[in-house]
Amino acid sequence: MGIRARLVLLALILVVPLMVERVHSLEETRVKTIAEINHDFEKLAQRTVDAQREVIFSVEAILKSASQIYLSGARLGDACGLMRASVPTNLPWIRNVLVLDPNGRVTCASIDNMNNLDLGDRDYFKRAKAERRLVISDYIFSRVSKLPIAVAAYPVSPGDTLNGSVIIAGINLDWMSKVMDNLGGRPGVSAFLIDSHGTVLATAADQASMIGNPIGDLALLPAIEKASAASKSDTGRLHFTTANGKVRLISFTRVPGTSSRLIVSIDEAVASAAINREIRTAYIQLGFVCFLVLLGALIAAERLFVQPIDLMTAAAIQFGRGDRGARVTRSHLPAEFVPLARAFNAMAAQLAEREHELLTANDRLTVMASIDMLSGLANRRGFQSRLDFEWFKALQTGEKLSLLMIDVDHFKLFNDTYGHIEGDACLSRLGEVLTRIANQTKSFAARYGGEEFCLLLPSTGGDGAVQIGEMVRAAVQALALPHATSSYQTVTVSVGVAFTTPNETHQSMDLIEAADAALYAAKHRGRNTVVEHGFARAADVAMKMAG
Ligand code: GH3
Ligand code: MG
Ligand code: MG
Repeated sequence: MGIRARLVLLALILVVPLMVERVHSLEETRVKTIAEINHDFEKLAQRTVDAQREVIFSVEAILKSASQIYLSGARLGDACGLMRASVPTNLPWIRNVLVLDPNGRVTCASIDNMNNLDLGDRDYFKRAKAERRLVISDYIFSRVSKLPIAVAAYPVSPGDTLNGSVIIAGINLDWMSKVMDNLGGRPGVSAFLIDSHGTVLATAADQASMIGNPIGDLALLPAIEKASAASKSDTGRLHFTTANGKVRLISFTRVPGTSSRLIVSIDEAVASAAINREIRTAYIQLGFVCFLVLLGALIAAERLFVQPIDLMTAAAIQFGRGDRGARVTRSHLPAEFVPLARAFNAMAAQLAEREHELLTANDRLTVMASIDMLSGLANRRGFQSRLDFEWFKALQTGEKLSLLMIDVDHFKLFNDTYGHIEGDACLSRLGEVLTRIANQTKSFAARYGGEEFCLLLPSTGGDGAVQIGEMVRAAVQALALPHATSSYQTVTVSVGVAFTTPNETHQSMDLIEAADAALYAAKHRGRNTVVEHGFARAADVAMKMAG
């Protein structure tokens, strides 16, 4: 795995847990939001139940005391007057107290004059009369007051079955709407008190226009009945799909002692819209952070690792291609790479120095390989390469090229007489002579092998070559090195001369062979002499005559 990939992976290892943690906490918040709404609803239901119970107790107490007062008043002759005087008019939930005769006709009313109003067909009247106990009617919506009310009915004299009078009180449900306000103002949440027909009796202030109207979706009621029957409980929850296809979470509970229900309906999508938006923003933020972290990791990998490595690789490649001055510039590198760069530069410097030493040694070896150590002249190898060079040059320029072959006379005898070391010393002296003459004549001297030397004369024709040959012969004789076993008494040399104008038809070897042949002739002529080979001379003369 590359450095880039590793850094990116490292960045991901750092970022992903944070990301997962954040997303997890946001998802938790979403679930919590819905749970909170449900919790609030449960509290509301509980408060409603408690309030209802309180209302019933209080209504029961008032009706009981009003019936007592009414009965006592009857004995005193002013039943209605006493009862009216005793019923408080400022109670928040009791609107009106009425006394009905056994036929259900109003005979006394605490507030308004409603005498003779016939309520004999009302269910609560019939039940209170028959059952001789407190009866609460279903909640009903009063079209007069535009308020939901219930009616409580109590027999005026529960113990006296002959007295069929019933005392009733209207119960105000304003308080219910106030309790509901607790759930109002929340997006996607609506709370209703509905009667057994689905008419809205109470709701939060922000939905007050619903009061008196049937609840939005009529299929909801049967769904609640079904859920309630299935769970055998008055309280429950269900998911309900509305007519326009929206899924709502419905919580319901029955108001004790009535057929009314308290319903809270939550549109989860709307209720959690804000938190969903927050979650979406968080995802975008996290994505952005991840992107930045990855980008940062890539840039860091590029700057901290890849670039320095590229830089050093480039220097190494440059060095490998032969640029011995190639070095890594340390100023562009992170501190950690500096020792490596320093080591590379030191190694490069050392290698460059070694190479320089090797080249020098090689040059020296090359020179040594073509030099004869005894005479200090070029050896046969050095001679051959110089001959090739001069031959090529003469081919280009068309100039003549001469060669002298020089051989020590009776050198075997010299060795036999003076010993091999003296022989070497003699050869060394001859080397000095030839060096001097080569310098004078701008020619090239070499030891061809054994006691045989040669002198290569560029731009020199036959006459000049013979003259220089003579110069050599005379110079050796002038050394006057004693040679007792030679007829000349001193060391002498025989010289064979050949010259040519190089062309494509013959080769440098021909020139050597010609000079060798001339040398052979010189030996035959008695040694210590210079002989010129005739083949080029003949051609030369022929060319001159033709000219
Ligand atoms: P010639 O006049 O016909 O040339 O007779 P020569 O004796 O010179 O010729 P020959 O070829 O018979 O002998 C050459 C001698 O040169 C034989 C050898 O001992 C001697 N010689 C060759 N190289 C060296 C050398 O490096 N040092 C010494 N001291 N002698 C050498
Ligand atoms: Mg010889
Ligand atoms: Mg010889």
